[in-house]
Amino acid sequence: MPRPLTPDRRAALLRDVEEIYKVLSARPLERDCTGIAECCHFKLTGRTPFLTRGEALVAASAVRSRGRKKLPPSPSGACPLLENNRCTIYERRPFGCRTHFCKAAGGPYARGEVRDLIQQLEDIDRELGGSGGVNLPAAIDWALGQR
Ligand code: SF4
Repeated sequence: MPRPLTPDRRAALLRDVEEIYKVLSARPLERDCTGIAECCHFKLTGRTPFLTRGEALVAASAVRSRGRKKLPPSPSGACPLLENNRCTIYERRPFGCRTHFCKAAGGPYARGEVRDLIQQLEDIDRELGGSGGVNLPAAIDWALGQR
């Protein structure tokens, strides 16, 4: 049975997730997310980002820092973190929101362009006790229930 993580190790893993986001944004890959939020309308696009545990915990921390303990309901089927058509956690949005299928931003990254970063997120996921990506609302709901 794996040993529980110390708080310091857990915090270090979450810092690593944010570092992965910085590395991604520093890569010379042609993308232009202008925040039009087309890809955040899951029901319309038929696609929902999947998050590893590290991403979910970072996103949950951003949600909490806005004074929320739960995800708001989203009857429209859009991401519950979308408000007035803007992402409420944009700086700490998950990896998939930075790399997935937004046509207006240039389409998805080729896996080979970000394979190393995905691998690092998966390694962190395993160390946090995860077993792969979970759809965004369920992943963040889980993370909001953690301390
Ligand atoms: S977390 Fe933000 S960027 Fe990602 S789908 Fe939700 S609103 Fe859009």
